[in-house]
Amino acid sequence: MTASEIVLASGNRGKQAELAPLFAEFGLALLTQAELGIEPAPEEGLTFVENALAKARHVAALAERPALADDSGLIVDALHGAPGVRSARFAGLDADDAANNRRLLADLKGRRNRRARFHCVLVLLRHAADPAPLIATGTWEGEILTEPRGGHGFGYDPLFLDPALGRSAAELERKEKAAVSHRGQAVRALLAQLGSWRGT
Ligand code: IMP
Repeated sequence: MTASEIVLASGNRGKQAELAPLFAEFGLALLTQAELGIEPAPEEGLTFVENALAKARHVAALAERPALADDSGLIVDALHGAPGVRSARFAGLDADDAANNRRLLADLKGRRNRRARFHCVLVLLRHAADPAPLIATGTWEGEILTEPRGGHGFGYDPLFLDPALGRSAAELERKEKAAVSHRGQAVRALLAQLGSWRGT
C-alpha cells in the first residue's frame, strides 16, 4: 500500500462518482470497500458524524488501511429534520432513489415551507484506532421542488433547488455541483487539513 491510497467506506455510486475526481486532483486514489470485499457497516447513529466515524472505523479495521467515510443526507425543515440520517432508506430498507423521492413529495404535499439543506460529514482515519480523525462538514441550502427536474446526480438531486442558481441539483454538471454542494465544501475543507495528515 502507498500513502496515497485510501479506502472509501461507501457503496454509493453517486458518492463515489463525486468524490473520486476531487481526491484524484490531489493525487489520492480512492479504493472502494466493495473492491476489497468488505460488507457495509450497520448505520445506527442518530447523527451524521456518528455514522461517518463508525463506517470509517469499520473499514479501516478490516482493510488495515486509511479509510474515508461520507455520511450525508437531506434535512427538511417542515419534516422536523427528516429524512436526515435515514435519507438512503426513507421509503424503506431497500428503497431506491425514485421511491425515496416519491415519499418526500408525498410528505410535503400541500406544504408551503419547502426549505431544506443537504449536509455532508467526511471522516478520514489513518487507522482503526486513530484518536484524532480528520473531520470536515459541508451544508447546501435549498428548497424542495414539487416535481423532479434534471437528469444528473443521484438521490434527491432532482427535487433539490438551489435558489441562487435557479436550477435543481440534477440540472448541474458534476463540476458545477461540486463547486456549491455540501460534499464539495466538505472535500475542500478536508483537503485543506490533509497536508499535515500526509506528513504524519
Ligand atoms: P448514507 O449513505 O447513509 O450517507 O446516505 C446518503 C443518502 O443521502 C443518499 O442515499 C441520498 O439519498 C442522500 N444524499 C446524500 N448526498 C446527496 C446528494 O449529493 N444528492 C442527493 N442525495 C444525496
